[in-house]
Amino acid sequence: MNGVPRIGQGWDRHRLVPGRPLVLGGVAVPSDLGEDGHSDGDALLHAIVDAVLGACALGDIGTHFPPSDPRWKDAPSRLFLERAVALAREAGWAIGNLDATVVLESPRLGPHMAAMRASIAEIAGLSVDRVSVKAKTGERVDATGRREAVEAQAAVLMVPVPGRPVSLVSPPGMG
Ligand code: MG
Repeated sequence: MNGVPRIGQGWDRHRLVPGRPLVLGGVAVPSDLGEDGHSDGDALLHAIVDAVLGACALGDIGTHFPPSDPRWKDAPSRLFLERAVALAREAGWAIGNLDATVVLESPRLGPHMAAMRASIAEIAGLSVDRVSVKAKTGERVDATGRREAVEAQAAVLMVPVPGRPVSLVSPPGMG
C-alpha cells in the first residue's frame, strides 16, 4: 500500500471555566473563559494530534500523553503535535494538508484565524497554505452554544515521506 495517502480524523471537547487561558492552535485568545484540562487544554491542537495519529494507526493522544503523567500538567499542546508529527515521520508519513473546525460560541475567532493557521503550520512544519481552520458557533444550543465547552474537529491527509519505505511494523502496544 506504499504510495497511497491515508486519511485521519480527530475530535475534542474541553469544558470552559473561569481562570484558565483559552488556547487554540497554540494561540492565546483573549476570553473570560478558558479550557479546563490537564495540559493547556488546546482542543484544536488535540483534535489535530488525534487526526495525525489516527491516519497512521498509531493510537491516540491519550495513549501517548496520558493525563495521569505529571509531565503534561499545564503543558503547551504544541509538544503533543510536534511529537505526533515526529512519530508519523518515523512511520514513513508526512502531513499533506489538514483542515479543522472549531466550535466556540464566543469570542469570535475571525480576528485570530491567520495567527492560528500560522501557529499550526509552524508547529507541524508545514506551509500555511496546507493548513485550514474554520470557526462555527454553537447557535446558542448544546454545550458549545451555552459556552460550557469548546469543540474542535480535524481531518488530515497523510502522504508517504519521499524516499522512505512505509513501516509495516506497529510500535509496542499498538497491536
Ligand atoms: Mg483534549
